Amino acid sequence: MPDHEGFAAPVLPTGELASSAAAFTKTFVGYQAACSCGWTDQRRFLATPEGAKETEYRWWSRHAASLIAAAPPGELVIKSNLLRERIVKLAAERPLAALILLSQLESWQRTLLDQAVAGARETGASWAQIGEAMGISKQSAHERFRAHVSS
Ligand SMILES: [Zn+2]
Repeated sequence: MPDHEGFAAPVLPTGELASSAAAFTKTFVGYQAACSCGWTDQRRFLATPEGAKETEYRWWSRHAASLIAAAPPGELVIKSNLLRERIVKLAAERPLAALILLSQLESWQRTLLDQAVAGARETGASWAQIGEAMGISKQSAHERFRAHVSS
């Protein structure tokens, strides 16, 4: 994951987290899981090689695993981008043909969005998580979909 590089951050005696390189030069009292995106875990592990390994696993189990589960398959992202490029080209060459295709996509998309939101709610996703996945606020997600989803 390009934006999420996990590491065992050394905890300095002040309680502050240091960069992983500080483990070689400074006194530290433990490790806490951290990520290049700014995420940090609260649990502190021992300042030992085993503690560092446990901390790295913690980054995986508490942060990275859920990000991977929420990410669309790369193959579908590529196909989706390819489809968009083809439609842009089609719209330039044969705008009415593109209009037919885009209208079809729009009608599928509405139905599929409702189904995906309902599925996300059924599996325990919060409105905040749904909003984040769609790039909108949790209030906007709730207002837009509450009529289509129970609860
Ligand atoms: Zn991250």
